[in-house]
Amino acid sequence: MQDIVETIVSGETSPAAFASLPVPGSYLGALVHADETAMFDGMATRDKDPAKSIHVDRVATPEVGPDEVLVAAMASCVNYNTVWTSIFEPMPTFGFLRRYARSVPGAEQHDRPHHVLGSDLAGVVLRVGAAVRTVKPGDRVVAHCLNVELAAPDGHDDTMLDPEQRIWGFETNYGGLAQLALVKANQLMPKPAHLTWEEAAASGLVNSTAYRQLVSRNGADLKQGDVVLIWGAAGGLGSYATQLVLNGGGIPVCVVSSPRKAELVRSMGAELVLDRSAEGFRFWSDEHTQDQREWKRFGAAVRELTGGHDPDIVFEHPGRETFGASVYVARRGGTVVTCASTTGYEHVYDNRHLWMRLKRIVGSHFANYREAWAANRLIATGAIHPTLSTVHPLAETGQAVAEVHANRHDGKVGVLCLAPEPGLGVDDPEMRERYLPQLVRFRN
Ligand code: NAP
Repeated sequence: MQDIVETIVSGETSPAAFASLPVPGSYLGALVHADETAMFDGMATRDKDPAKSIHVDRVATPEVGPDEVLVAAMASCVNYNTVWTSIFEPMPTFGFLRRYARSVPGAEQHDRPHHVLGSDLAGVVLRVGAAVRTVKPGDRVVAHCLNVELAAPDGHDDTMLDPEQRIWGFETNYGGLAQLALVKANQLMPKPAHLTWEEAAASGLVNSTAYRQLVSRNGADLKQGDVVLIWGAAGGLGSYATQLVLNGGGIPVCVVSSPRKAELVRSMGAELVLDRSAEGFRFWSDEHTQDQREWKRFGAAVRELTGGHDPDIVFEHPGRETFGASVYVARRGGTVVTCASTTGYEHVYDNRHLWMRLKRIVGSHFANYREAWAANRLIATGAIHPTLSTVHPLAETGQAVAEVHANRHDGKVGVLCLAPEPGLGVDDPEMRERYLPQLVRFRN
């Protein structure tokens, strides 16, 4: 692996140099084991510790299929799907791997007693399959996490509708939290030249998800002047949603849970901020009952900030805890767009507020290649910036994931895979210099 790292760090990019580098037969990856999926049985979700279930072990290098690419992963980052995999909720991910192996010819090698995690990476192409024409060894790339077959007609208007649609590193093996990673060629995009490896690896999953959810016609179709309520505005998804709304001429109303996070969203240019902890909103009076007076108090707080304008769009992902309030506060004809249910997936809302006021609930999930490409272009042109806060070595992936599980992090948490230190990989130092204040604003 040393040869690979040295060649990359030297700045070499020629296909011949990389094609002649030997690929090791095994590599280190952050993974969970199939025989440990019962280790947290009976424990409350918050007590399940990803640092106990995630191991950094050696695995055999997979075969590269005709439409696949083997990438030397310089850096990756923690996504919430890594939290779900590591606490085996809502179910262990080994079932996904078995189904993939069963239903897609050539995918048998994904069904292993270990699952290598990670749905983001920045790195360098090492090997390409026989049918790959879009990238070559030596290319510096980032990966988005949409894995599709496109053998059926269903996905040809919108690849997210492919019946064999999967999230790489969550529903497939050989993810990015590792020294090497296996991706489909159509997951790859150019690495933004002004970013370090770890900055470049931070955005793919959350930025693309927030892009589809808010900007795309497949989501809320954001317009200039739209008021957008953003839950978790300093978190992974929210820190990109906030930037996308500002960049698109909308007005974000950012919900956070501490003065520090309030400061972070202000540093991105948001002016309307609600600290949910300071305000003490309690939407549920007990496990089964929601308190509509609290929805009203929340709505009044939003109106006070916006001068009386209810949100045109509500950017939802906390789920059960907040969904009733989200449906309530959306304006007449407004859209609640949801991509997750962190606090519980059985949502309860008062349907009168939906139908009588002609609101819409839109389900959204990751992004198609086109949307991911557009989202990556915003990063590459400096319109949207990575919100990387901390960076951990690969060996500490479990602790990094535990930080996210405990909601102790800001923005994105990075992981160095093959990169020997932070700060490497910048190809356009002049552009970097121009955006430096924005690039470091989340750094601890
Ligand atoms: P994250 O970095 O942990 O951010 C989530 C934010 O939500 C936190 O920063 C927190 O902010 C806020 N939050 C947590 N509990 C809350 C509660 N009870 N009420 C209100 N706000 C709460 O995670 P993420 O990466 O943004 O992901 C969020 C969810 O989206 C996860 O469930 C993830 O699996 C899902 N997701 C889905 C997709 C998809 O394609 N479908 C893609 C990405 C993520 P404050 O504490 O500051 O309020």
